[in-house]
Amino acid sequence: MARRKLIAGNWKMNGNRAALVELDSIAAAALAAPGIDVAIAVPATLIAPAASKVPDLSIGAEDVHQDDSGAHTGCISAGMVKEAGARFSIVGHSERRADQHETDADVKGKAEAALRNHIAAILCVGETLAQRDAGEAESVVTAQIAGSLPDGAAAGWLSIAYEPVWAIGTGRTATCEDVAAMHNAIRAKLREMIGTEADAMRILYGGSVTPDNAAMLLATKDVDGALVGGASLTAAKFVPIIEAARDQP
Ligand code: PEP
Repeated sequence: MARRKLIAGNWKMNGNRAALVELDSIAAAALAAPGIDVAIAVPATLIAPAASKVPDLSIGAEDVHQDDSGAHTGCISAGMVKEAGARFSIVGHSERRADQHETDADVKGKAEAALRNHIAAILCVGETLAQRDAGEAESVVTAQIAGSLPDGAAAGWLSIAYEPVWAIGTGRTATCEDVAAMHNAIRAKLREMIGTEADAMRILYGGSVTPDNAAMLLATKDVDGALVGGASLTAAKFVPIIEAARDQP
């Protein structure tokens, strides 16, 4: 089944209003690549100015709370980011799973909050280096899928991002063979859980994707796009990744 590639950026806790100038060239590159989807998750404070600066580009949040409102000081709901202009949210990024101790159940709740509030979600999974070295990578990742896949999971609004923790921000990438094997295992788990809908669901790779390795990773079997951290901060690095996806056969 042909799946449109999705190139998504994640600015993490980086950027300010001045940095939004980068979005002009990114939006232009997205417009010049009508066969793929391009999106950027930015810090919550930048969602509204980014969405109004580049209305044609899909701007998203980096996290949402699982509840729609309530006594959760400092948290932001899916409805709030939608009102600010977000069209999607990342959920379950490994940095949040580690720093904020988010569990699979939390991540499932966050994805379901996105669905309830009519925004898309990118659900992240991935193993640590110790888990990979122990031969547990596949069992860890498929258990994360089992525990965090939301009720109502469907390809129209949900993508999965496989991000080996040891490859994020380290300059190390998984080999194409390892990526293909893991994406295959993820799709098999999705099939078990949601049947043929799994064949339409995009599985992105994330972890030190750069202009130099993007074409190779995007050509890997079952890789339907990329979630890009550091290289999404500047148009100079992110645009070539968009072009690599655009130019895939
Ligand atoms: C990420 O933030 O999800 C990520 C993959 O970061 P980087 O591309 O910097 O490794």
